[in-house]
Amino acid sequence: MSLQRSRPLAVGGLAKLSTCDWPGKLVATVFLQGCPWNCLYCHNPDLIDCRVPGQLTWEDVVAFLAGRRGLLDAVVFSGGEATRQDLGPAISQVRDLGFSAGLHTSGAYPRRLTELLPLFDWVGFDVKALPSDMAALTGVASAGEAMTTSLQALVASGVDYQVRTTWGPGVPGVSTPGQAAAVVDWARAQGAREVVLQEARPDGARPAFLAARREALAQLA
Ligand code: SF4
Repeated sequence: MSLQRSRPLAVGGLAKLSTCDWPGKLVATVFLQGCPWNCLYCHNPDLIDCRVPGQLTWEDVVAFLAGRRGLLDAVVFSGGEATRQDLGPAISQVRDLGFSAGLHTSGAYPRRLTELLPLFDWVGFDVKALPSDMAALTGVASAGEAMTTSLQALVASGVDYQVRTTWGPGVPGVSTPGQAAAVVDWARAQGAREVVLQEARPDGARPAFLAARREALAQLA
């Protein structure tokens, strides 16, 4: 892995304090711009486009973090898909400032994730659907294979993690409790020991998901 960042990180946003992005930790969360997937229910759709430049510089983030030493436990790299960008140098800087380092990922880049895993203390990993449903959910044919390879690498790595599955009316392949249970069973079959269900939120989602959600809810009524 290169130790020199080839281009500046495109930072789409910064949450200066979160108590839920890494359970049990007080963190700042850095939202990285760009994602190769296009999930129907994405509630950060402004972060998907890889061509959009950052809204603040990484140097701005470092300056903020320098003032939070002793007040925050950790920094979480989220997105978008954080592993799309070369995170290695940024993780080192975070550690040099005395923070632990966490990652939110959906596993879109298995090779990069495998390289980065030793640098993280914790990973929140999205298992979005059964592999066979991932193309419908994300719009990318290879998404199921990428997610599977990444999850297996995470489980084998020894890095602490939490697997999360988002479900709810209108989510392709994970719309019902039975479908959500099948995804949890699949993740456990890959070796995942902690799998948490979370409900898809309509706030911030695009009209296509809101329409699918309305239709699914109408069928339940
Ligand atoms: S992987 Fe995450 S950021 Fe990317 S489109 Fe899906 S929900 Fe949005």
